[in-house]
Amino acid sequence: MPDKPTVAIGLLSGCFGCLMSLLDMADDLPDFLDKVELRRTPFNDVKEIEEVNIGILEGAVSTDENLELVKEMREKSEILISLGACSCFGGIPGLRNFHDSTVLKESIYANKVPDDELPALLDKVIPASQVVKVDVEIPGCPPTSKTIKDALYSLLDGKKPDRYKKNLCVECPRTKQKILTPQRGFLAEGVRSVMELDSIDPNTCFLEQGVLCMGIATAAGCAARCTRNNIPCRGCNGPVPGVASQGNKAIDTLASLIPPGALMFFEDCVGMGYRYTAAYDTTLKVENK
Ligand code: SF4
Ligand code: SF4
Ligand code: SF4
Repeated sequence: MPDKPTVAIGLLSGCFGCLMSLLDMADDLPDFLDKVELRRTPFNDVKEIEEVNIGILEGAVSTDENLELVKEMREKSEILISLGACSCFGGIPGLRNFHDSTVLKESIYANKVPDDELPALLDKVIPASQVVKVDVEIPGCPPTSKTIKDALYSLLDGKKPDRYKKNLCVECPRTKQKILTPQRGFLAEGVRSVMELDSIDPNTCFLEQGVLCMGIATAAGCAARCTRNNIPCRGCNGPVPGVASQGNKAIDTLASLIPPGALMFFEDCVGMGYRYTAAYDTTLKVENK
């Protein structure tokens, strides 16, 4: 890596939130910008991609144009980073894989925009890592500025940042006792709604109070920022590395914790377990990968 590495950013189908989080490095941003040469960003609107030391991808691969861009970014980048849940796992855009893309397009644009003015949608959304080799993954929706900063600075120091290999519960400060003891049926009243949070103890594990929390099947790395703020984890860090299916892992774990049958009556198992990984999860057998 040269003293002042060159950087290019490629935007796929995302919401710009990950780049906002990068900009949110605030006091550290001028220092970072001093250490690198930004060659292509959505802010300078450079279209061409030249060869760079670090390529950063935000968003999922959802259109023909995204597919071309992700391949070109791979060719031109010495180190390619997937920034955010969309780029790492397909993220929220991946939820469209449960629907027919033509029907979706019609329902959203309702023939108000001529077809040739719309991006050519792929049948399915694909995470960047299932199209090309990605060297570094920085998950999260969006990743925190600190997570981004730590990963980028460790790259500048010549070290490859690693993802956390433990789940979120190790970072979560809520007291937990019952989930650590194998037993069945301890949640006698079954699954509760997040809407009941007013009556939920902010210091005790959500699951032990009957509120579904994806911390059990989600990689650590965000310092449990949601559960610390009385919001159950939704799983945006994706699965622990090596686990193919975050949703299956969550359902397996819940099946050993909650009363038999409780999950049967839970309306949104898919939204809970696969919210960020529907496009990534090979056990869901989505096509076009
Ligand atoms: S990961 Fe989240 S914040 Fe980042 S582009 Fe996707 S939806 Fe936006
Ligand atoms: S299940 Fe959720 S609330 Fe309970 S310890 Fe894990 S992350 Fe914290
Ligand atoms: S607590 Fe869960 S949903 Fe919240 S930022 Fe961390 S991984 Fe994402």
